[in-house]
Amino acid sequence: VIFFAVAVKAEGEADEMEQAKEQAESHEFETEVNKLMKLIINSIYKNKEIFLRELISNGSDALDKIRFLALTDDKALISNPHLNVTIKADRENKKIVITDSGIGMTKENLINNLGTIAKSGTSEFLKAMEDEETADSSLIGQFGVGFYSAFLVADWVTVASKHNDDDQYIWESDAENGFKVYKDPRGNTLGRGTEITLNLREDALEYVDDDTLRDLITKYSQFINFPIYLWATST
Ligand code: ADP
Ligand code: MG
Repeated sequence: VIFFAVAVKAEGEADEMEQAKEQAESHEFETEVNKLMKLIINSIYKNKEIFLRELISNGSDALDKIRFLALTDDKALISNPHLNVTIKADRENKKIVITDSGIGMTKENLINNLGTIAKSGTSEFLKAMEDEETADSSLIGQFGVGFYSAFLVADWVTVASKHNDDDQYIWESDAENGFKVYKDPRGNTLGRGTEITLNLREDALEYVDDDTLRDLITKYSQFINFPIYLWATST
């Protein structure tokens, strides 16, 4: 009986998700960003592992921003008082979920920051990647386009975000067909912050492993000024 109840609920949630997606706005990536995406998804670069450093660094930047805002707005933190980054590997579903309780993004921020307004670094990074001598995907963060490194390991990325000034919205993309934005049918599950779900490519399944993730956090992100929690799978 319990299993049946669970199944029914899950089905209802899936329906809600489908309905929300039907009402999603579709957006094209800006031309240079589109080129960058094609390069990343067709790449055979080494150093794919730097995706985690880039996403944790974005979480840390977002946490810095809300902490700064809280200096002059004493209500800013109420929506989620715990400042941290959490990382969860879901081996069964081949997913990694990275969540921060930073400033979050409004619907408009999601559209502008993740694909519509190109940064000057986009074309510079493309140029650097064309030149064999300077081609190194791990430099992506220095060109201000670190977010897109998510597609080094994922073929489908979902970003749910909740900013104090807006409802919780979802941005999602398979890198090839622009991106979609829609109100999160789950409502406000984050309080405040950003949750990035990486649906891993078949050639990147090695990352859905607690030990690998722990090593990468130690290697690249040990000096982050906020707690980083890694959810270990119980064994
Ligand atoms: P950079 O971090 O150098 O600005 P990125 O490509 O890594 O470049 O990120 C692009 C932008 O997207 C960031 O500047 C920020 O505005 C937004 N962003 C990305 N990740 C997050 C996040 N976790 N929380 C809030 N904003 C984010
Ligand atoms: Mg960044």
